[in-house]
Amino acid sequence: MSEHYTSWGRHMAARQQIRRPAWVDELDLASPDKTILTYGNGRSYGDSCLNDGGILVDLRKLDHFIHFDSTNGILRCEAGLLFTDILSLIVKQGWFLPVTPGTRYITVGGAIANDVHGKNHHRAGTFGMHIKQFELCRSTGERLVCSPTQNPLLFNATIGGLGLTGTILWAEFALKKIASPMIEAESIRFETLDDFFELSAESDKNYEYTVAWVDCLAKGKAQGRGIFIRGNHASREKTDTAPCTTRTLSIPAELPISVVNPFTLKIFNEIYFKKHPRHPKKHSSHYAPFFYPLDAIENWNRMYGKKGFFQYQCVVPVDQARQAISELLQHIASSRTGSFLAVLKMFGPARSPGLLSFPREGVTLALDFANQGQKTLDLLESLDNVVAEYGGAVYPAKDARMNSGRFKQYFPRWQEFQTYIDKNYSSSFWRRVMEVE
Ligand SMILES: Cc1cc2nc3c(=O)[nH]c(=O)nc-3n(C[C@H](O)[C@H](O)[C@H](O)COP(=O)(O)OP(=O)(O)OC[C@H]3O[C@@H](n4cnc5c(N)ncnc54)[C@H](O)[C@@H]3O)c2cc1C
Repeated sequence: MSEHYTSWGRHMAARQQIRRPAWVDELDLASPDKTILTYGNGRSYGDSCLNDGGILVDLRKLDHFIHFDSTNGILRCEAGLLFTDILSLIVKQGWFLPVTPGTRYITVGGAIANDVHGKNHHRAGTFGMHIKQFELCRSTGERLVCSPTQNPLLFNATIGGLGLTGTILWAEFALKKIASPMIEAESIRFETLDDFFELSAESDKNYEYTVAWVDCLAKGKAQGRGIFIRGNHASREKTDTAPCTTRTLSIPAELPISVVNPFTLKIFNEIYFKKHPRHPKKHSSHYAPFFYPLDAIENWNRMYGKKGFFQYQCVVPVDQARQAISELLQHIASSRTGSFLAVLKMFGPARSPGLLSFPREGVTLALDFANQGQKTLDLLESLDNVVAEYGGAVYPAKDARMNSGRFKQYFPRWQEFQTYIDKNYSSSFWRRVMEVE
């Protein structure tokens, strides 16, 4: 069966043969003449979850819980299980995901293969750092349990390994104890990039979760203005038992053109910035709107119209981050493109064991750009020039266009990683950055 599977940016064409095993016993990774790749839930933005011309193994039916130790907070589940389903089980029993990205519609396998990070990177590192073990199936049918002590090299290559070392069947990981589903949050309006750095340094000491929205169109003195958001899990005494009231809206169909344009962006950014008072504002929030604001709009990626969009996420080293982020924002503001939600966050010093893991100590900037063809590609290239000059890196999970030279510079352990790739596995992303047909 050949089907059109896409990724979240909705602009990459790929045709692949789809396999959809319902049980582990149905998983067939044999393929004499085509390459294989596992598909999680397609929440990667570019081509790292696509395998044009090859086989895509859609693992979403392998979504069973295997064992939950609710005393010690250890969960073992199949790799196709979504974070949202895990949260439905564990939160009421006083546990939370150790690390979660900005959407809960990702699978455990996808979270490991991209070694995802969240608002607590400065405290908890990446998702891969909480994995105790997983089972990896290679295309030969061989099944290997991998952990920091069993097949440790393959363990390290698979964490952040872009799905190229085989198919993860199940994983076991440690959860975080919580007293309440609520978050005690605080929003603080800041006027400059220097304020962001000050707020980050102060907040990362006392807050588990920190992130900032930055106005990507602001220029001159207003450059770097934004809203800083920080929070901690509420303690039981403060618990507000209010249920989550987030209403799910939906963009039911593809819009003919993008509604994100210089006009709407400018209006949104101005209103969003001004709506936050100058003084810090405390509020209690259910975990869902705090961690997953975008999940409240189903298919929000359709907002960008039929040409789709690019997401760009980079990290730059901490010592020169102030200058590098300022240059990046300058390029973006001059282009008059960008997104409603441009995110700035400090990554902490913890290093994941993953050979190709993206997070490293520094400041990360993430935002979307409506796909305007060459104009957008040129802008992203200019951002890459800044990132490369400052010794930073670009996140493969969000990428659809970085070139081979850049990838190798950003991920200097790529050659070591290559030795662990399953010989039948490949992806559109990997062929692009390795320059193979
Ligand atoms: C709104 C939104 C917010 C986001 N916020 C963040 C964020 O804050 N931080 C962050 O790190 N990321 C973020 N992301 C990116 C997202 O978390 C990652 O791309 C994630 O890996 C997607 O998981 P998935 O299950 O959809 O996997 P896919 O996108 O389908 O696949 C991702 C990779 O995992 C591999 N893979 C999937 N399942 C398996 C398996 N069982 N075995 C082996 N390999 C497998 C695939 O081959 C592919 O290489 C965000 C994405 C969206 C849409």
